Amino acid sequence: MECLFCKIIAGEIPSTKVYEDEFVYAFKDINPIAPIHYLFIPKTHISGASAITPENAEIVGKIFTAIAKVAAAEKLDSGFRVITNCGEDAGQTVPHLHFHLIAGTKMGWSAETGA
Ligand code: 5GP
Ligand code: ZN
Repeated sequence: MECLFCKIIAGEIPSTKVYEDEFVYAFKDINPIAPIHYLFIPKTHISGASAITPENAEIVGKIFTAIAKVAAAEKLDSGFRVITNCGEDAGQTVPHLHFHLIAGTKMGWSAETGA
């Protein structure tokens, strides 16, 4: 198994867990860009948002349900942002589907296209 996030799920690489259920694992991002920066991943390997199909799409709802639970538990009442980067142009660095939950700061809005 060469996938970094599959290794994290397997416990072969340590992580700071913030949520876990049968289908979803969530942990603190090692390089946070905000006071709260967690990653939510499916326990089954999916390479990214472009690999979502009718057969595996159910996991996306499970992940967003987990995100809502964590947001409620951590009282993120003033808001949060969920991001998934897909592919090279978006800067995806780990080819295992993940959703960033970012919160704890007032955020601006820019696509950061570099254009
Ligand atoms: P991407 O750039 O693919 O959207 O997001 C990958 C994220 O994974 C980055 O925010 C990066 O900081 C995080 N990351 C990479 N390696 C590790 C690791 O070994 N442990 C943890 N907790 N986060 C990681
Ligand atoms: Zn994986």
